[in-house]
Amino acid sequence: MQPPKSAICVICGRRPATTVEHVPPRGFFKGTVGQFLTVPACTICNNGSSEDDETLRNYISAQIGKQTTDAKYLWEWGAHKSFLRSTKLRSALLSTTHEVEVANEDGLTTTRLAFVVPVSLYQRVFERVTRGLHFLHTGKLLPTDICVQVNLLINSPDLSFPELQIFETHSVAEEAFVYRFALDPEEISNGVWLFTIHGSHWVQSSTGALVDNAF
Ligand SMILES: [Zn+2]
Repeated sequence: MQPPKSAICVICGRRPATTVEHVPPRGFFKGTVGQFLTVPACTICNNGSSEDDETLRNYISAQIGKQTTDAKYLWEWGAHKSFLRSTKLRSALLSTTHEVEVANEDGLTTTRLAFVVPVSLYQRVFERVTRGLHFLHTGKLLPTDICVQVNLLINSPDLSFPELQIFETHSVAEEAFVYRFALDPEEISNGVWLFTIHGSHWVQSSTGALVDNAF
């Protein structure tokens, strides 16, 4: 697919796009440059996102642990170094850490670490991802007055529901990031998005008027 172009940053919808932003954040995955999606962005949005991306990567990495080869790589590649460097992050995590059982998409139950994560961090990062992917798939900016609501899912959603068969599915970096979405054909700013990160971490977002009744 030839990516659409925009002279305006697709994240803030205000400033000129002078650079590109990775959606999803590149640091979430290993992989080569060509495997990643980018959208036009301004330097302020681009620079402002890197600290959020790194912090969220650490949370996700700590949560999915070393369950998959890619997750192991993610952890060894950078996340554990950030943990060692950041006393604040480490103590924030350790003070709330406990083990929980989760069911993955294959219906298998596994345990992983769970801890309190800052919802605002997910909101910021996945609002950006949602706006970026909305642009890539529709060729249009999601208007700034359309809100994006982000929810964290504890378990894999049951994708066998007939309602979920309308979802279009794509993946990035060899399935390390799978996203599904459905847009209202009559009003494309209404949408539902579902993100699966390293096969064991799920985030959902809703845009527009569907916010209150999606899922
Ligand atoms: Zn911007």
